[in-house]
Formats: sequence, C-alpha cells, structure tokens
Amino acid sequence: MIDAGEATRRTFDLLAELERREKGDERRAAEWHEKANTGEAEPRWYCDACNHTPPQWTPHCPACRSFDTLEWRAPGAAAEILPPPALPADGTLAAASVGKIA
Ligand SMILES: [Zn+2]
Repeated sequence: MIDAGEATRRTFDLLAELERREKGDERRAAEWHEKANTGEAEPRWYCDACNHTPPQWTPHCPACRSFDTLEWRAPGAAAEILPPPALPADGTLAAASVGKIA
C-alpha cells in the first residue's frame, strides 16, 4: 500500500513497470511515468532561509541554524510566489493597497 506522502518518482516508475509487466498495459504505464516526471508527489521539508532540505523537521535548520524556518512543501511550490492581492472588480482598494506597500 502506498501512502500518498511517501510516493516518489521511483515509486511511480516502479508502478509503471509493474503495470507493463503484469498487465501489458502501456497506457497505464505511461500515466504512471507522467506522474513520476511531474515530480508532484515529492513534498519535503525546505528551509526558507537557505533552501536546505533536511530529512525531517527540526526547530533549527541543520544547515544554517535558523530557527523555525523549515516548511513542508512540494518542490517548485516556492513560498515567495505569493498570490495576487484580492481586489474588488472596480479597483476601489487599489490606492489603499499601494499605500500599505509603501
Ligand atoms: Zn537553513
């Protein structure tokens, strides 16, 4: 049984191989390879300060010793990519938002 949090590219590659050998199902095998190549199934701990990826959470980053900087996320889901601010369609809050940023 595969726990979603533990599935890795290797897991998906093995599932693809299993699908191919056991059932001869090339289409399903290709789907597993697709999942493997997107790498979407490999969340891990990231240090916000130095991008180190320790195997487990610790209060201090093992690499840079920063406190409380480890965050569980998928590769590519960078924390610095912020969603755009929610503004009303008529833009009435735009001036207020600019004021906050400055
Ligand atoms: Zn660090």
